[in-house]
This record gives sequence, structure tokens and C-alpha cells, in this order.
Amino acid sequence: MNPKEPALPSALSHRNELAARLEGKRLAVFLDFDGTLAPVVDRPDMAALSDSMRRTVGALAERCPVIVISGRDRKDVHERVGLDTLVYAGSHGFDIAWPDDGTEPLADCTKFHDLLEEVGEALERKLGPVEGVIIEPKSCSVAVHYRLTDEAGAVAVKAAVEGLLASHPRLRGVSGKKVYEILPGLDWDKGKAVLWMLKALDLDGPDVVPVYVGDDITDEDAFNALEGRGIRVYVTDGVDGDGPPAADYCVKDPDEVEILLTFLADRANGGGKGMAR
Ligand SMILES: [Mg+2]
Repeated sequence: MNPKEPALPSALSHRNELAARLEGKRLAVFLDFDGTLAPVVDRPDMAALSDSMRRTVGALAERCPVIVISGRDRKDVHERVGLDTLVYAGSHGFDIAWPDDGTEPLADCTKFHDLLEEVGEALERKLGPVEGVIIEPKSCSVAVHYRLTDEAGAVAVKAAVEGLLASHPRLRGVSGKKVYEILPGLDWDKGKAVLWMLKALDLDGPDVVPVYVGDDITDEDAFNALEGRGIRVYVTDGVDGDGPPAADYCVKDPDEVEILLTFLADRANGGGKGMAR
């Protein structure tokens, strides 16, 4: 066991407690993708949802609003989940689409495209020779994955990313699990996106309990945003160790996430029919 793994109570061992919190309430479920719905894999383009998870998420979405929020581009995460009945928030919440296909570009990252492209090219030049580095240009960010590098490679990646950020104050960096992400320096994150969506979906009343399940550093903004308000479940598997996050419960891995979602679908009391805005 990772010694830094947070000492959070297991959500699955506290189902009675969860049931009590959800009694008579409407439910809204926010789900991260990588490491939460799909196991973390060496190459980001290999991440996939199991058929069983897809069925479970689909069944939950028949009972309550389900929102997938990811650092991936919205279309990418939508395709990987493969369900049209959910809300998808891509690019860490910069880009949100409703099931009726309306989209909501919330914080305008278009004016950063040229700069992000330039940064992506600079990273390619610097890190191209480092074996195992995967540079992933996305619509609102550039991700640099180093899960497949050796230690010296990881050091080179860190130095390159920090150097670029230092010379580009309009951008900001986020570090995740064996990945650095370079984003527009806009005041917007998964936490702000979650609060915005609760309002937009008419889910910000006291009769709604938002549940957020996520595994990464970027999910902590959402955990913090839902403090004292929602049920925050941290997925612990593969923790790289930055100390305990601000969550209420934990589950171990996507298999346990699926058990939790099945439980939530059983508890959802019909509050989810109002998906349309
Ligand atoms: Mg994740």
C-alpha cells in the first residue's frame, strides 16, 4: 500500500451512511474519466471504458443527471464513453455540451490556440529525443505524459515544462499522474465548472446532493468546490502521493467505482428526468 494513501473511509463500506445522506434527495453524479471510469494506461490513447461500466453509467443516467468531466477534449471523452445521454465537460471544464448537443464554451481558450501550438512545438523540439515522452496537443491545453520514461527522462520533462511556463506567464501548469498539463492562465477549473453546471442544470437547490468521483490533482478543485455540500469520492489507485485530498470517502479503482455507481442508481429517486435545461 502506498504510505501516502489518504486515510479516507471506504465509500463501499459506508453505504448505509451514503443512503442516509441521499434519503429524499435528488442526485447529480459527476465523474472524471481517466483513472475513474477507465483504468489508467501507459498511453492515453489506449484508455477505454469496459462494456460493463458503460452499461452501469447508462443505467445511472436513466435515473439522474450524469456529467463526465475530463481533461480530455470533449469529443474525445464523449467517444470513449459512448453514451449520448450524459453531459460532457471537456478540457477541464472549459468546454461543456448538453445531451441535446448544445455546447457551452465557458472560458474562451481560442485566443490561446497559437500560443499553445507554439509551446507544443517547443516541447517537441526539447523532448523529442527523450524516449517514452508523449506530447499530446489538445484543444485547450498541451499534455506531456512521462509514464513511459526513465527517471532521467522525467527530470528532463519537468525542467522543460517549468522552463516554458517561466517564459510564458499567460499559461499555467498542472501536474497530474505522470503528466504535466499546460493550460491557459484563465480563472476556470473543474471546481468552477461543476458549480456552474449545477446552476445551469437547475441542480443547485438544497434538495440535490452532488456526488463527485475523481482520482487526480485536477479533481481537487471540484472536491474543494463541493465541500460541505456534496459527497466527494476519491479513487486512490496509483496515487503518486501529494497527500490526502479534500474528499469524504474513497474507492480503490474503477471496479469499485462501478459498484458505487450501481448503488447510486438504486438510490436515485427519479430526480434525473430533468436533463434538459
Ligand atoms: Mg483522472
